[in-house]
Amino acid sequence: MSKSAAAWKKFEIGGIGIPPGEAQQISIPVSSLATGVPAMLALHIIHGERPGPAIFVSAAIHGDEIVGTAIVQKLIQRLDPTSLSGTIILAPAANIFGFLQHSRYLPDRRDLNRSFPGSKNGSLAAQLAYSFLNEVIARCTLGIDIHTAAVHRYNLPQIRIAAGNPYLVELAMAFGAPVIVESPLREGSMRALAKGMGVEMLLMETGEALRFDRLSIDIGFQGVLRVMAHIGMTDMDDGLTTVGIPARANSSRWVRSPRGGVTNRIRKSGDTVRKGAVLATVGGLFGEEPLEMTSPIDGIIIGHATLPVVNQGDALFHIAQVANLDHAGERIGSITEAILASEPAGPAEQIMDEDEII
Ligand SMILES: [Zn+2]
Repeated sequence: MSKSAAAWKKFEIGGIGIPPGEAQQISIPVSSLATGVPAMLALHIIHGERPGPAIFVSAAIHGDEIVGTAIVQKLIQRLDPTSLSGTIILAPAANIFGFLQHSRYLPDRRDLNRSFPGSKNGSLAAQLAYSFLNEVIARCTLGIDIHTAAVHRYNLPQIRIAAGNPYLVELAMAFGAPVIVESPLREGSMRALAKGMGVEMLLMETGEALRFDRLSIDIGFQGVLRVMAHIGMTDMDDGLTTVGIPARANSSRWVRSPRGGVTNRIRKSGDTVRKGAVLATVGGLFGEEPLEMTSPIDGIIIGHATLPVVNQGDALFHIAQVANLDHAGERIGSITEAILASEPAGPAEQIMDEDEII
């Protein structure tokens, strides 16, 4: 046994110590509800047999964004502490209150992802943020936070990272989502807080609220495994040689409905579009006076509204500006095909917020 392995100790969290090579579920008390029922932060910790980094994967920090919950469940089934180097903390429903109520928010109507760093004696959101910060983020060097689009919206699987950080680009490449977007950090968000603490963060946006979809779950699950392989936590192949290079974007634009009415959507997430391409038409209640919506830039559609009933000004498409647009479309196709092909045979589903301010 090497010296570092000999020094590899129990993982201390929530007042308990998990021995190397073991996994454990714990519930950390956060606050108490009106009924007196305690509110808990539920975590599954897998502490590897061998030394390595500590990372976390968090789902449903917005309580209705539940795709990450399915990803965490698949990771729990797959990961074996006896063949793991390092430690992974899995939070299947970080905002357990919103998760129960199918809501983005907490019962105090606050947004957990605007409440960091939080405080021990603050609001419910502040208490939960404080617990998550001190029990989870502070113990890790890397976090992967999984979000979805809002209700009645769909996001193409994508990784969002802080701008100007080559190591994050490398990790995002290893993750292998079709698109990487360098996006600004929002005040009070987990990503902004983590940056200040020196914890690297990948934010995954994928799918829609209150739904599971296979593409999102598979890309998220395999992406986390590839990142873990890339940083040496497992002996798996990080897959970088077989999965294509994602398209990269450092700016994006929302396209809003020019009138209230009913949309006829022509393009969808994953499509590449040229400036001036028709995205949808919006007509009145009788289909009268349809107006065309066109793309303001060359780019890839990374999110779209699924609800055809719209008010004037509703954001219907989110388009990322990418370089080498001709190749970007091919890459997205090859990445999604490679990922879906790696799963057991079955009907392939049609491809078809933290941070989204619409
Ligand atoms: Zn979110």
